[in-house]
Amino acid sequence: MEREARCMCGQLSIKVQGEPSVCLVCNCNNCQRRTGSVFGVGAYFLHDQIVDKQGTPKKFHIQSDSGNAIDSFFCSNCGSTLYLEAELFAGMVGIPVGCFTDPDFPEPTMSAWNQSKYHWVKHPEHWINMPQQTPDNP
Ligand SMILES: [Zn+2]
Ligand SMILES: [Zn+2]
Repeated sequence: MEREARCMCGQLSIKVQGEPSVCLVCNCNNCQRRTGSVFGVGAYFLHDQIVDKQGTPKKFHIQSDSGNAIDSFFCSNCGSTLYLEAELFAGMVGIPVGCFTDPDFPEPTMSAWNQSKYHWVKHPEHWINMPQQTPDNP
């Protein structure tokens, strides 16, 4: 199965094949600021699952709260983040699930950084819940 994610203006797009290796919600402060929402939802695909990429994103480098480096690739025109490369998920590309605009996209299986989760956000109980993201507890 192929799925395409794109930014708001359509200048950037990325097409991936197959299912994500990991799909998780992250409640860290960086994801909160990056999205403007109270948590990020990312699906991680292996690099060889990328079948097409259009446009030239701008790159922003940040050290995550857990000390791991993250490169965020976003549209310089509309500001949408189209994908991320996280040290924690080496060899993979993380795509914000909202950029697929697909309500049938597979459900996340875990939520990270619950210590900075907004108290009124309730993630499903069957998800794996992690208070923090650490190298030993990705
Ligand atoms: Zn755009
Ligand atoms: Zn995060």
